[in-house]
Amino acid sequence: MKKGILICVSGFSGAGKGTLMKALLEKYPNYALSISATTRSPRPGEIDKKDYFFKTKDEFEEMIKNDEFLEYAQYVDNYYGTPKSYVYEQLEKGKDVILEIEVQGVFKVKEKYPDTVLVFVTTPSIDEIRERLIKRGTETPEKIEKRMSQIAREVKSLYDYDYILVNENNKLDECVEKFNHIIESIHQKTDNSKDLINKLETEAEEITK
Ligand code: 5GP
Repeated sequence: MKKGILICVSGFSGAGKGTLMKALLEKYPNYALSISATTRSPRPGEIDKKDYFFKTKDEFEEMIKNDEFLEYAQYVDNYYGTPKSYVYEQLEKGKDVILEIEVQGVFKVKEKYPDTVLVFVTTPSIDEIRERLIKRGTETPEKIEKRMSQIAREVKSLYDYDYILVNENNKLDECVEKFNHIIESIHQKTDNSKDLINKLETEAEEITK
């Protein structure tokens, strides 16, 4: 069976990645979203094993020791990591697997799996992100400033992504369609050319018989 595509989606916190992923999965069932493990505390409304596997630092470090992660990183005082098993299972089933992870993790994945597609979701401006974070109200002002500094450091790595998606206010559907279109066109490219090459190979064999 055809294997799925591994996709890393990153974005400045507050750029609406979560909402975008939710809308994408509702509309297109061929995507599987990996659930990460983290040592950060759940935000109101977040559910263990659905939004994240919430772990203590000791539990997380035990998972690192047991080589359970495809990648992991430290981000703003906490650990975040992608458990391997689910990702491999879903790719084998032919699903396109999305890892919603920050930039350090992305480049670790890309190094291991060079075919990984890297997508970065951003707002049209950085100022909008601070506004969205303040509006979301889940972080203290101090944490917001830490996240803003992190964002400032991350900007340079945008050049290394394959696609930059601008998530404008009130244009969620458009963004979902753009995302799906990108992945579809990658399928078209690899799938079609493989079929075509097989066909040409068969034809060539006929000629040389
Ligand atoms: P948040 O605390 O806002 O849920 O996530 C903070 C950052 O960690 C986000 O940029 C998010 O994409 C990233 N993140 C979530 N899960 C993982 C993971 O498994 N690995 C890495 N490297 N980053 C992650």
